Order: sequence, then C-alpha cells, then structure tokens
Amino acid sequence: MTDKGFVVLDNVAKRWKGQLGVENITLDIEEGSFVALLGPSGCGKSTTLRLIAGLEAADEGHIIIDGKDVTHAPSADRNLSMVFQSYALFPHLSVAENVVFGMKVRRVSKAERAERLARALKITGLEGLEARKPGELSGGQRQRVALARAIVAGKRLCLMDEPLSNLDAKLRASVRKDIKRLQRDLGITVIYVTHDQTEAMSMADKVVLMKSGHIQQVGSPADLYDRPANTFVAEFIGAPP
Ligand code: ADP
Ligand code: MG
Repeated sequence: MTDKGFVVLDNVAKRWKGQLGVENITLDIEEGSFVALLGPSGCGKSTTLRLIAGLEAADEGHIIIDGKDVTHAPSADRNLSMVFQSYALFPHLSVAENVVFGMKVRRVSKAERAERLARALKITGLEGLEARKPGELSGGQRQRVALARAIVAGKRLCLMDEPLSNLDAKLRASVRKDIKRLQRDLGITVIYVTHDQTEAMSMADKVVLMKSGHIQQVGSPADLYDRPANTFVAEFIGAPP
C-alpha cells in the first residue's frame, strides 16, 4: 500500500453536447477499501464508474489506477473487473462456462481455470449448480454467477453498478453480505454504485455522496451521519439536520 491512492480521480469532468454528466470529481481511493458512490437517480454515479472503467472518455482531468495514468487508456488496459445490474450472462452457456469465459479468452491455462472456478463457486455458494444454464437459476443465483465471474478474473479492482437492484429484499440482504465478505477475504478494492443509502452505509468504508453531477461529501458512514456537509446530505442520509 502506498500513501498515494490506488484509484485517484483528479478534477474529472464528462459532458455530452453541453449536457453535464459529472464535474470536479476528485477522489482518492485506498487499496483494499470498499467505496460507495451514492446519490439519487441521474446524479452521475454510473458516469463516474464508467469513466474509471474506461467505458467513457473524460473531457477534463486525470484518472490514475495503481500509479499509472490511465486517462486515455482503453478499458481492457485498466486491469479491473465489473459487475452490472443486468448480469450479462451468456444464456446458452452453463454456469461454469460463463464463469471461466473471460479466462478462456485471455488464454489462462486449463488447470488454472479449474482451480479458480472451484474457488469462485465455493465462495459464492454455487457449488453443485455448475452445469445449469442461466435460465435455470433464480435471480439471486444469476447475480452470484456474475459476481463469481468478476472474482475469478483475479483483479485487485472491482467496479459494481447497482448489482443488487434486480433482487428482492431478502436476497439483496444475503448477497450484500456475500459481496462484503468476498471483498474482505480477497482484500480487493471495490467501487460500488447504489442509490440505496442503507446499502451504502452498511457496506462502505467510505461513502461518496453525489448530487447533480457533483460530489457533496466524502467520508465514512459515521462522518456523513454525524457531520453532514449540507442539508442535502443530512436529508439523503436521514440524519437529524
Ligand atoms: P446515475 O447513475 O447516478 O443515475 P448517470 O451517471 O447515469 O446517473 O447520469 C448522469 C447524468 O448524465 C444524467 O443527467 C444523464 O442523463 C446523463 N447521461 C448519462 N449518460 C449519458 C449519455 N450517454 N448521453 C447523454 N447524457 C448522458
Ligand atoms: Mg446509474
């Protein structure tokens, strides 16, 4: 670990034909931490995550990952994995084939693939389901497959965009715990987008609260609750003003 952040955004902005996506985004994310990007719909959470992922190009500012300036680097060179709310599994492939797909593309050896697959199935509780097709799984199980796939990718940085929003409340609570446990056990850095303040406050080491394309406050859940920077933060978190 260095004193410089593992993921650093320096004054990043993104606009589309004059329409604001995000502006003045400055963040310093420590390796091994769980950071939630929180805020109402349209505030710029996904845009920020997509900028980090390299799925959007920044109009201003710099993005550093693991000490390297990746501002102009393609997504494939950023050495990260992603989980989205639409699980994007291949319907014609089995659970096992879905999980190892990316590794096959990257020519990871067969023995190594088998080992990582077994590990991912164990930690996501998918053992025994490896031969099933996505259509034969529940929503929660499908989401676990997407998580397993991101985990076996073996990246130190994982980006998640509302990964639980298609699940019912009970499943959300259990998968939430899985994600948290995996993040801790593997020591990976997770940047997690959600509009659900309970989710952010219960999972994150650090919360980045956004509104209308701007960061309102960055702090621990306790910081935001006890010392909200403004009335928007206080109201969004539900703390007494
Ligand atoms: P969130 O994920 O917090 O709901 P987004 O990052 O998706 O918000 O969107 C932030 C703002 O950027 C919104 O005003 C949205 O309409 C706009 N936006 C996002 N993607 C595009 C795009 N591809 N083209 C134009 N505007 C976009
Ligand atoms: Mg979004």
